[in-house]
Amino acid sequence: MAEPTVFERIVAREIPAEIVLETDRIIAFTDIAPQAPMHVVVTPKTSQYRDVVELAAGDPHLMAEMVQAAQAIARERAEGDFRLVFNTGELAGQTVFHVHAHVLAGALREGSLA
Ligand code: AMP
Repeated sequence: MAEPTVFERIVAREIPAEIVLETDRIIAFTDIAPQAPMHVVVTPKTSQYRDVVELAAGDPHLMAEMVQAAQAIARERAEGDFRLVFNTGELAGQTVFHVHAHVLAGALREGSLA
């Protein structure tokens, strides 16, 4: 068995997180190292999918639920507009191999994604 990821441990309440939204299939919490005034991580409770490519192929409806959750969070905690980032693979900066989206809002610069 692989070691549980940090996100599995948050789902299991083994480590604390500031949870901002939870459904039967999704959990969202503030990022521990925020990169925007609002920076929330949205992730499925299942650890079945390591990245967005696997998720899109395996359960597109769950992916849609993540997008809906991102919109609800941005409406509640920011002005409604948001940036959704799925780092996919080590070279793209992925460090936790349990699919998740970064929901960023507030003071985002136009014309820059990095
Ligand atoms: P990534 O680099 O795309 O895999 O994203 C992983 C994210 O998880 C990073 O932005 C981290 O800051 C965040 N992170 C890691 N550990 C925790 C934690 N215990 N609580 C909240 N966010 C975390």
